[in-house]
Amino acid sequence: MAFDSLTEKLQNIFKNLKSKGRLTEADVKEALKEIKRALLAADVNFKIVKDFVKKVEERAIGQDVMTGLNPGQMVIKIVNEELVDLMGAETTEIKFEPGSAITVIMMAGLQGAGKTTTTAKLAGKFKLKGKKPLLVACDVYRPAAIKQLQVNGEKQGVDVFSMGENHKPWDIAKASIEYAKKNGNNLVILDTAGRLHIDEDMMDELIKIKDEVSVHQTILVIDAMTGQDAVNVAKEFNDKIGIDGVIVTKLDGDTRGGAALSVKAVTGKPILYVGMGEKLSDLEQFYPDRMASRILGMGDVLSLIEKAEAQIDEDKAREMGEKMKKASFDYNDFLEATKQMKNLGGLGSIMNMLPGMGGGALGKMKGLSDDQTDEAEKNMARMEAMIYSMTPHERENPDVLNPSRKHRIARGAGVDISEVNRMNKQFNEMKKMMKSVTKGGKRGKFKLPF
Ligand code: GDP
Repeated sequence: MAFDSLTEKLQNIFKNLKSKGRLTEADVKEALKEIKRALLAADVNFKIVKDFVKKVEERAIGQDVMTGLNPGQMVIKIVNEELVDLMGAETTEIKFEPGSAITVIMMAGLQGAGKTTTTAKLAGKFKLKGKKPLLVACDVYRPAAIKQLQVNGEKQGVDVFSMGENHKPWDIAKASIEYAKKNGNNLVILDTAGRLHIDEDMMDELIKIKDEVSVHQTILVIDAMTGQDAVNVAKEFNDKIGIDGVIVTKLDGDTRGGAALSVKAVTGKPILYVGMGEKLSDLEQFYPDRMASRILGMGDVLSLIEKAEAQIDEDKAREMGEKMKKASFDYNDFLEATKQMKNLGGLGSIMNMLPGMGGGALGKMKGLSDDQTDEAEKNMARMEAMIYSMTPHERENPDVLNPSRKHRIARGAGVDISEVNRMNKQFNEMKKMMKSVTKGGKRGKFKLPF
């Protein structure tokens, strides 16, 4: 489907970033250059690409890394947010007139964009929502278009109004409103005539319809396969007749998808739906956030980011930071930190806090092999078992751990005493390291050191 190639390119760029762990400004700039290239290749408007990359750069360079994410993930987070923003941030619903008043929607677009098909698709959607649609055949130039609307209307089980080819489209529109009133239709969708290219006659006709009947929503249908042309068409239509929203068709095809990314920025009008196939059920509501994650092809990383945002409790982190400053960090805090890391689905970060554990930020992300990551997971589990074998007093006061207590802990956790000693040594080293790192530091909040 659309965006496949963009997705693949972006994934490679991000893979590169992640393998780097810490990013320099040069790394970010290089990645942005590649992102720019990938977006241009996807047929996104040049000016939009420039603005987009600039925004990402401003946010990505020199900003603090959010607790729980490594810098590579932070760049993904920013790109994702900017993509969502580019496509309109929020889902826009078609607005209906209140109560039983009739809502009139005028469909516009070039010939072949998918207008007639989309009209019938929309009717099906709104019928399911309890509306009683009336489809109106205003394309008087192509008898086949009238027939197509009738056939599709029948398939959807909705009424179709037609006066043949020998009337003016605006007269047909006017008559259809009268018909709707009598027939109890509360939604009228006008299927207008397209042309192969933008021309004055077509625009005049649409303006005339708008003059004659009160159109509540003008929806433009554009074909994703035509790339930047589709976006130019959208701009023309918006400038000349004013549109309220756009439906992008044929996103199921082998398109580069740039139209879907550019149209909001160029016209200021949102995408309402996207056509995902020829079947009458192939129309999807447009969710900018879902589309962005589809484009990034990074559902897993994005949900990790969401979790990090939701679950890292800044207050707790701050409290922990304070404890570290005073070197009162104990095994309970250590367990708490472990739990937070587990919530994030990774433990490389906490391993990284422990000198000698050999971990890197989020294990695999920093290039640990699967075996190494497995090993780290096992170490972590054993460490947890050892802490759980301590009494509450021991956890709060690690200094009381004498040889007999350590023996008891080792037995409880099913490990050798040497492991308890090693963990305790690492724990003390970490405490010392934390104390020196945070001593005199003016950092307002604790940040995990990765
Ligand atoms: P109109 O001239 O704008 O009314 O366009 P039509 O509704 O006749 O559609 C033109 C062609 O595009 C038809 O063959 C449709 O089946 C096809 N089409 C419309 N929407 C989609 C879509 O979302 N995906 C695909 N693959 N084909 C579509």
